[in-house]
Amino acid sequence: MERESVSGAANAESLAAVLRSLEGLSEVEEGAPLAPHTTWRVGGPADLLCVATTVDGLCAAIRGAVEHDVPWRVLGRGSNVLVRDGGVEGLVILNRTATLEIVDTLVRADSGLLLSTLARKTATAGLAGLEWSAGIPGSVGGSVVSNAGAHGGAMADTLQQVEILDRQGHQTWVKVGALQMAYRHSRFRDSRAAVETVLRAEFELVRDEPAAIRGRMDEQKRHRKATQPLANASAGSVFKNPPGESAARLIDQSGLKGMCIGGATVSTRHANFMVAAPGARASDLLSLIDVVRERVRAKYGVELDLEVLPIGRQAPTLA
Ligand SMILES: Cc1cc2nc3c(=O)[nH]c(=O)nc-3n(C[C@H](O)[C@H](O)[C@H](O)COP(=O)(O)OP(=O)(O)OC[C@H]3O[C@@H](n4cnc5c(N)ncnc54)[C@H](O)[C@@H]3O)c2cc1C
Repeated sequence: MERESVSGAANAESLAAVLRSLEGLSEVEEGAPLAPHTTWRVGGPADLLCVATTVDGLCAAIRGAVEHDVPWRVLGRGSNVLVRDGGVEGLVILNRTATLEIVDTLVRADSGLLLSTLARKTATAGLAGLEWSAGIPGSVGGSVVSNAGAHGGAMADTLQQVEILDRQGHQTWVKVGALQMAYRHSRFRDSRAAVETVLRAEFELVRDEPAAIRGRMDEQKRHRKATQPLANASAGSVFKNPPGESAARLIDQSGLKGMCIGGATVSTRHANFMVAAPGARASDLLSLIDVVRERVRAKYGVELDLEVLPIGRQAPTLA
């Protein structure tokens, strides 16, 4: 066990040296805190962190990790993950690729582009179809992974195909029909497919007046401001809505709004949001998640499924 972790550390060190020499990668750092790179702002460090600014850099970092036998994970804006207090093993690649091409009504975006930037720029170009995403703080890639959606719209509505780096290290385009996109789900959330990375996404949008599109986006943002705790650290909805039900309603009716564990609180503004105070630990959020699930199960017999994705290791316990 000890020998394994020593060789794991040596692999990470020699991987770090390789990453520092590659183009399209920057800020290679060992033991880097991940909390500032997530919207909940909790959790431990990455063994090794780097920032990818080009798709070639992103692919090279993943291929390097595979060659060095170092586990790896791509993060977008960290707005749908709960990083555990023990941090994340291996390499975490922050995806900051951001190229956008618009040809007529066809839009091709790098997976690191902010979804809200994509929505704003396509609106300016007079292209409608992504208004629902105004105010969602994730990347295009992270939004494909969970088929992000709001107000009756979702990624799958306009997505045509994605370019992926597959498990053999090949870049290939996959049509949306093969991505198993459903409510807050795609094949990329399936742990067996977690070795696939979304590199680019292509959308087919429709023409409309920029002012009309912006008006609809402003309406979405007003609604978010009125109903969500946007001034606090959160990760959006913690649980998926059970079929035909609202998770927020079940949590609210279970009397859980305002419940706190450590630095984690069930939002009083939106019962399906949990907010983290400065200094909160991931374990506070995980404990609160358990309590909310237990109470809703006891009162309604409903099992709440997580929409957020816990990642990383538990903090070691003191002997
Ligand atoms: C205030 C607030 C409001 C929100 N409102 C909504 C909403 O209305 N609707 C909604 O659906 N969500 C909402 N969310 C959640 C979140 O913003 C979305 O799920 C978003 O799409 C996640 O993108 P991300 O880049 O932050 O993903 P991350 O959190 O960085 O990653 C999520 C998962 O995807 C994986 N991943 C990330 N990028 C890639 C890639 N390129 N290839 C393969 N795997 C990848 C990660 O490893 C991780 O497992 C909200 C969050 C907040 C904080």
